[in-house]
Amino acid sequence: MGGIGLEHHRSSENQQEPKSWTDWAGMDWDRNVIAHEFVHSWNGKFRRGADAWTPDYQQPMQNTMLWVYEGQTQFWGYVLAARSGVQSRDMVMAMFATAAGKYAEGTPGRSWRSVEDTVNAPQLMRRRPLPYTSLTRSEDYYVEGALTWLEADQIIRKGTGGAKGLDDFAKAFFGVRDGDWGEVTYDFDEVVKVLNGVYAYDWAGFLRTRLYDTNQPAPLNGVQMAGYKLVWKDKPNAYEKGIAEERKTLDLTYSLGVTLNKDGDVTATLWDGPAYNAGIVNSTKIVAVGRPCLFVRRDEGCDHRREDREGAYQPADQARRAVSDGGDRLPRRLAPPLAGEHHTGQGQRLRQAAHRARQVTNLS
Ligand SMILES: [Zn+2]
Repeated sequence: MGGIGLEHHRSSENQQEPKSWTDWAGMDWDRNVIAHEFVHSWNGKFRRGADAWTPDYQQPMQNTMLWVYEGQTQFWGYVLAARSGVQSRDMVMAMFATAAGKYAEGTPGRSWRSVEDTVNAPQLMRRRPLPYTSLTRSEDYYVEGALTWLEADQIIRKGTGGAKGLDDFAKAFFGVRDGDWGEVTYDFDEVVKVLNGVYAYDWAGFLRTRLYDTNQPAPLNGVQMAGYKLVWKDKPNAYEKGIAEERKTLDLTYSLGVTLNKDGDVTATLWDGPAYNAGIVNSTKIVAVGRPCLFVRRDEGCDHRREDREGAYQPADQARRAVSDGGDRLPRRLAPPLAGEHHTGQGQRLRQAAHRARQVTNLS
């Protein structure tokens, strides 16, 4: 099925896979949408960035505060899903780990584009596929926004000796004018003011560096202050495992630097990653890994000896056969094999990268 979560003030439209509520453990990864959309009743519909409120449909709506509207909703969506039990604690930890991994190592575009600037992504791209999302960035105000709010929560907790947290901000910011079904707008300064009312800190500086500046350090402070660290393992975390099994995809972003669909098509290439540097780009089809078969014996599979005897095997063939552009035409770009006995320097790099086995992210 497709996917949608659409917020309204007193209801929401939530799409999940058909078995999400019957296969409780297996579909744990798929049940965040209700928690997220529920939060929007307060964050987005009731409290709304001043430039996202317009008196009528003739006035263009602006999005500059989406890192509150969506970023903090993403944070509360994770937290409330775990608190309510609609998702397990382990699943939500895995979701945070995936987020931490993505913005620690999977988004080189952080060097040139701020989180705040990505609020323009919906108007520019309308959620169409991008050739190199890791470089262009996309709607990162959601999840990098959530990691920023996690850090804010930890700053408040640390500063108040655990007496307060972002819950107290939510109470002060969203919990006003109970029963009012209208909209109450805010701007950057009011967010800072309410944060300061909870715990005095340089919140303006905090938000400006994390969200408006480019080339910032990986947004892992919140994870670390909470007592965790991002680690890399050779098995996918629960969230990534659930998605991969459901969608029949393989995410090798942190080793080879590609994601693949079930047909071996490259659906994303990490900018400047090992695969990218070997010329493997989006829409490339991987048709073989290692030395491909030119002659197949009925009983024993690949007949490499016959290939060698007849001089049929050439590394260049291997390169051509290992990838194609998805059709019967010759590939636009050749790439060395992912692994094999005959390899170029780039092939060697790929093998080393694969060996790093940094396939997935976990918090421990
Ligand atoms: Zn949302």
